[in-house]
Formats: sequence, structure tokens, C-alpha cells
Amino acid sequence: MTTRADAQALDRADPLGEFRDRFVIPEGGPIYLDGNSLGRLPRATAETLRRLVEDDWGGRLVEAWEEWIDLPQRVGARLAPLLGAAADEVIVADSTSANLHRLAGAVLDAYPDRRTLVTDAANFPTDRYVLAGLAAERGGELRLIDGDPVAGPQVEAVAAALDDGVGLVCLSHAAYRSAALADLGAITAVVHAHGALMLWDLSHSVGVVPIDLAAAGADLAVGCTYKYLNGGPGSPAFLYVRRDLQERLRNPLWGWFGHADQFAFEAGFRPAPGLTRFLVGSIPVLGLTAAGAGIDLVAEAGLPAVRAKSLAATGMMLALYDDRLAPLGVGLGTPRPAERRGSHLALLHPEGLALSRWLRAEGGVVADFRPPDTLRLAVSPLYTTYTEVWDAVEALATALESGAYRGYAPGGRVT
Ligand SMILES: *Cc1c(COP(=O)(O)O)cnc(C)c1O
Repeated sequence: MTTRADAQALDRADPLGEFRDRFVIPEGGPIYLDGNSLGRLPRATAETLRRLVEDDWGGRLVEAWEEWIDLPQRVGARLAPLLGAAADEVIVADSTSANLHRLAGAVLDAYPDRRTLVTDAANFPTDRYVLAGLAAERGGELRLIDGDPVAGPQVEAVAAALDDGVGLVCLSHAAYRSAALADLGAITAVVHAHGALMLWDLSHSVGVVPIDLAAAGADLAVGCTYKYLNGGPGSPAFLYVRRDLQERLRNPLWGWFGHADQFAFEAGFRPAPGLTRFLVGSIPVLGLTAAGAGIDLVAEAGLPAVRAKSLAATGMMLALYDDRLAPLGVGLGTPRPAERRGSHLALLHPEGLALSRWLRAEGGVVADFRPPDTLRLAVSPLYTTYTEVWDAVEALATALESGAYRGYAPGGRVT
């Protein structure tokens, strides 16, 4: 059994240990295991934003646009190596939802004989909503794969959903609920064999799982920068389009930032070459700058080291779960094999909501709850320590043993 001293020893030997100091971590604050929802603030971001706001916005005003105008492309180029993409295959702007809508709409326009979109019933809600809305708007159809919500989408289930009418399959690489990793290469290959395009949502894997979009032969991808990339609340999302597809797809939303000659103020719309055509309106300069600082920090640490720590810490959490939580009636909603896991564990308990509220109010742990029964405990390797993981599991076990969390149930004495 792993003791607290073992966890402390792992922290002392952690090659990423020095990165914790690169984040703003309030003294005496709670253990933060919600970095898969909103990553912590890097110190460099605070300083970079202060300079941007005071010197550039405050001092130079419109003159500074000269340096801001190509931030979506430049931040995309910095992110590209973390995705296994080339610099000109990634652009950062707008939200994941908006980027997904734009790319899926472009596919429907480019392949008019293929009106069916496919996703997984367990996919993140916004992905399902965006695709359902698009299908309704364009007279298409959304087909849902009813896979195993813990194991995530499997090749056979995807193959069974495909036919000649399918234009696009959209799935998450890491499932937001279970953290199950999908097989990028095998699923992309089966989608291609049926003549459709594959779009990966990388929101829950980017910055914590090495990704090789080129090796997988992926066509399209989107994802957030505010989770494991620590880009800040509402920081803009990225979109990826493989180079040979870029001229074949057109952004259905025509705006001046996507124009071939933005400042010519021409009468008609002409799409810009490359990925610039997927921009629409004025870019979120503050958010892009924060996203860039978060990306640089992960790139500096290196994804192999980040993944190694993520697996070691979630592996330790899994062993502690077996020792301490399974005997107390907690279920496991995450695949066990390391190669099948992202960076959080889903713990299942019928009173998960009360447990998450107790953890926050009395246990000194921020985790999150996804109805009806899922507690998510995430390791964000640049700042989460092994000791924090140990303490969080122990807090949860204590609550279950004492029953103290019961007062935090809906309708209980504390809400
Ligand atoms: C977090 C997340 C999103 C969020 O989308 P936004 O439009 O950027 O808010 C989308 N998809 C997945 C799979 C996510 O995990």
C-alpha cells in the first residue's frame, strides 16, 4: 500500500517538480484536482497580460495591432508540435463549439451527397448540440453511436455506424467523463475506408497526452486551451485542418478576418489562402496571448515527461482507489490500462454530488461532479503533486467512513 511518505518521496524525485512554482498557487488554498476544467494561472501569463494591457493596449493602442493581427496563426504554430501537426495546419481563435460548427459546416458544403454526421452519444454535450443544430439547419441527419460510456468509442461500433451517406465523424480523443482514450489511427482509418472525413475533439487530451495527428491521418481537429494548456477562462480554442484539405474547405461564416485581402475593404468575399480563411471577426487578443503563454509552458516541460507523470500519478490514484475507496462502495468509471487513460479518474458513487460538495467545503479538495454519479479527479502534471493525490483520496475515504458528507446532499442541511 502506498503511504503518504511514499507520495512525498515521489514528489522529491519528480523531474517536473520545479514547474509547480511557475504557477500562482495561493498559500493554504485547497488541493486543486479540476485542472481538466480550468487550468491554474501560470505566473508568466500574469506578467505577459499585465504588459499587454498596460503597455500595448494602454500605451500604444491601435498601433499595436501590427503585432496582434497574426496571433491566431502564430499561437497555432506554437501549439502545432503538441498535436503532431505542421505550423500552418493549426489556428487559434473563437471557442471549440464555434470551430466545430465551422469545420463540420464546411464538410457538409464540400460533400453535398453525404448529409449524415456521426458522433458518440457519450460525447461532450456541446459537440452533440452543434452537430444536431447543423444537421437541422442543413437538412442533414445526426447519427449517434451508442457505445460503452466508460470504454469510449471503439472501432467496431464506429464502423457499424458508417455508410455512403456519412460525410463526417466527430469523436473525442479523451472522453470528458471517463477519460478513456480513443484509438486515433484505427478509427480514422475505418472512417476513411467509408469515404468520410474524421474530426477529433482533443479538448481533454491536448497538453497532457502526446498526439500525432499526422501519423493518425486525421483530417480535422478542434480543442480547448483552458484545460491542460492552462490558457485561462474562455481562452480561445484551436482548429486543425490537414494541409491538403485546406483549399477544398470553405468557412461557411464569411467575415473580414477570413478575407484574402482584409484591409482592401473589397465589395465581395474572397477566402484567404490556408487556414486564415477560418477566421471570422476581430480576434481575442488578450485570450490569445494567455493561451500562448500556457502552451509555451507545456512545450517547455515536454509532452513525454508530462505524460509519464500523468500516468504515474493517476496510476497511484488507481492503486489508492483499490485499497481505500472500492471497499467503501465507490465504482470506477475509467479504463484501467495506462494506454487507455487520459489524465483523470472518474469515481462513481450514487451520492457523488454530496461527496464533491463535502470535499470542497470540508475536505480542502476541489474536484468536480458530473451528473448523475461521477466525481472527476484530475492530475495536471505541471502543478499537481503526488502528495495532493494521496491526501485527496484519503479525504474522500474519511468522508465515506464517517458519513460526514451526507449533510451535503441536495435537501441536506448544507447546500
Ligand atoms: C471542454 C470541452 C468543450 C468546450 O467547448 P467550448 O466551446 O470551448 O466551451 C468542447 N468539447 C469537449 C470535448 C470538451 O471537453
